[in-house]
Amino acid sequence: MNVNQFSDVLRCMNTVIAEHKDELSELDAAIGDGDHGANMARGFSLIVQDLDDKEYAGIGELLSAEGMVLLSNVGGASGPLYGTLLIQMGAPLKGCADADGALLADAFHAGVLAVHNLGKAEIGDKTMYDVLAPVDDLLAGWRGEGEGRHASAAEVIALAEEKCESTRDMLAKKGRASYLKERSIGHLDPGARSCSLLIEVMCQQLE
Ligand code: ADP
Ligand code: MG
Ligand code: MG
Repeated sequence: MNVNQFSDVLRCMNTVIAEHKDELSELDAAIGDGDHGANMARGFSLIVQDLDDKEYAGIGELLSAEGMVLLSNVGGASGPLYGTLLIQMGAPLKGCADADGALLADAFHAGVLAVHNLGKAEIGDKTMYDVLAPVDDLLAGWRGEGEGRHASAAEVIALAEEKCESTRDMLAKKGRASYLKERSIGHLDPGARSCSLLIEVMCQQLE
C-alpha cells in the first residue's frame, strides 16, 4: 500500500463514519453525551480537507499529520485517543513510501500501546480498547511474531465486530459511560463501534 492508496483508505473511512454518524451519536446518547458521531465525522472531514490541501512523502508522515488533525481539533475522549493512535502508528512508518500488511500491523501495535498508555483502559472496561487489543493480538501473525498464524482480513473484521458486540454486556469503567455504573450495561460502546467500522475499512483495502 503506497501513500496515495493510504490516503484513499482515510477518505473511505470518512465516508463510512459520515454514513454512521447518527448511529454513533445514538449509541453515545444512551451512555454518554451523544456527540461521538459528530466528533468522528468532524475529525474525518478535516482529515479529508488536509489530504486535499497537502502531499505527504511517506505513510508515517501522513498518519502523524492526520493524527495531529484529530488531536488538535476533536474534543472529548475520542479525539486525543484516535489522534494518538494515528500519530504513534505513523512513527514506525516515517519515510515509508510503501507498506505491506506486516509493516502496517507493526504500526498498529505501536498505536494500540499508545492508546493503552494514554487512556489506561483495560480489556472489559467497555471502550474502544476492547476492540483494539484483541485485533492487535490477532495481528501478531501478520507481524511474524510467536506462532501466530496469518489471519485473513475477513477474520480480523469478524473479530472486531464480535469484540464490539461484547461491549454490550460490560459495565463501563472509563470515560463518561462509567458515570452510569450498572446503567451502562445493555448498550454497545460507541467508541468500540467506530473502531470496528474503521478496522473494517482498513481490512477491506488490504484484501
Ligand atoms: P466524550 O466521551 O468525551 O464525549 P466521545 O463521545 O467522542 O468523547 O468518545 C467516547 C468513547 O471514547 C467511548 O465510547 C470509549 O470507547 C472511548 N473512551 C473514553 N474513555 C476512554 C479511555 N480512557 N480509554 C479508551 N477509550 C476511551
Ligand atoms: Mg461523547
Ligand atoms: Mg463529548
